[in-house]
Amino acid sequence: MIRFHNTLSGKVEAFEPIEPGSVRLYTCGPTVYDFPHIGNWRAYIFEDLLKRFLLFSGYKVTHVMNLTDVDDKTIRGAGAKGVSLEEYTRPFIEAFKKDLETLNILPADHYPRATGHIQEMVDIIKVLLEKGFAYRKDGSIYFAIAKFPAYGRLSKVNLEDLRPGSRGDADEYEKESVHDFALWKAPKEGEPSWDEGIGPGRPGWHIECSAMSSKYLGRTFDIHCGGVDNIFPHHENEIAQSEAANGVKFVNFWLHCHHLVVDGEKMAKSKGNFYTLEDILAKGYDPREVRFLLLSTHYRKMLNFTFEALDQARAGRSRIRDFLVDLRGVKREGPPSPEVNGLIEAARSGFITGLGDDLNISESLAALFSLIEKANSLMAKSRISQADALSLISFVTEIDKKILMIEPTSVILRVDSAKIQGTAENVQIKVDVSSELDSAIQEKIDERQKARAEKNFKRADEIRKELLSQGILLEDTKDDVRWKKIVLPRT
Ligand SMILES: [Zn+2]
Repeated sequence: MIRFHNTLSGKVEAFEPIEPGSVRLYTCGPTVYDFPHIGNWRAYIFEDLLKRFLLFSGYKVTHVMNLTDVDDKTIRGAGAKGVSLEEYTRPFIEAFKKDLETLNILPADHYPRATGHIQEMVDIIKVLLEKGFAYRKDGSIYFAIAKFPAYGRLSKVNLEDLRPGSRGDADEYEKESVHDFALWKAPKEGEPSWDEGIGPGRPGWHIECSAMSSKYLGRTFDIHCGGVDNIFPHHENEIAQSEAANGVKFVNFWLHCHHLVVDGEKMAKSKGNFYTLEDILAKGYDPREVRFLLLSTHYRKMLNFTFEALDQARAGRSRIRDFLVDLRGVKREGPPSPEVNGLIEAARSGFITGLGDDLNISESLAALFSLIEKANSLMAKSRISQADALSLISFVTEIDKKILMIEPTSVILRVDSAKIQGTAENVQIKVDVSSELDSAIQEKIDERQKARAEKNFKRADEIRKELLSQGILLEDTKDDVRWKKIVLPRT
């Protein structure tokens, strides 16, 4: 059984999709006025984990993520640059899609853009006007929250202090200033404007998600996600607009991930603790290390991003890689052992149970690392046969490919890539976990160990680079050195 915490009820509930076997999922996408920061990526990676787990559990998933290309921020940005909205947002959309791929996030089935769905938004606003949930004022159209008694159910916002008739045009505002919000904003000098039968103007931010979700997923769908920031006012307003217009429940499950802080503090450009994905990769980290870190804290907990934590993610990933490399080295003949099979089954069940319990990834990863620890200890006692090793490799590879996608056997080389490829580009290599080492190379490794022991680090480094140019990657451990034969990419 799968259970998720539903923000609407405040409880963990058993999950059942409306249509058996098939899940309709909407996740609020980026406002394409800037590059996403790692806090945004945390949300997208949580959503990827959710989606991969649903797929792993046998559901078909239809996933929609909107791209907000018209709102207060994009209009401000385009205005400041003196370019059209389309021209201003295009590079951010392209960069976003490239980063999704870099982080191994499964693509959505649809990425609707707000500017491509103005008519659908207008259609909902017309219904809201007809039904009396919306009213006109100074050329704009507002949603009258007093007409919608369920307002506040998601965010638990307090409506007692609500001043009748108070309204605002800003797309984002604080809970304390709950008010009637703009569905359609009167045209302003220098702002784009559409005229689709409700008077000229442009949409507010919230209406786009109501319009695009119902277009691609139907009026009632299964799961809507976002960050906790989105609960109020964005998602509260989406519910009000959709349910008032359609007269049916909008969404069954609302899942929200918590904030990400950096070194315990709120991220802010002014504090110098603001990071995009590119900023982190430029420091020499692998995107899969970033993915692993963002993935491995439960989505409803605050995630404290530190470079120390990123180093731990790197270490965790290498641990999985070393495990796979060591398993490849097992040569002992013999039948599969029931003990190893038992370990794999326990790990599989622990991994799945963890994720089924409101995506408790900590429990899932604990099951995986416990398997690694126990199997390593059996390996040390030569109690693992080649058949066992293959079963272990296939289990770890399966959950990685289907869920974690941290690709432990892939390595990105930065510094030495020029030596290999004759270019300064970063190269992605795959560790060949099945090869033998020839004696000439073993001699070089021994020579380097000797140089290191004699503290001749210059010579040791020369040998390391020489070996690398021959496709042998060395990794120093506390009291030994590991080697990996790498498969160089085709040039
Ligand atoms: Zn949204």
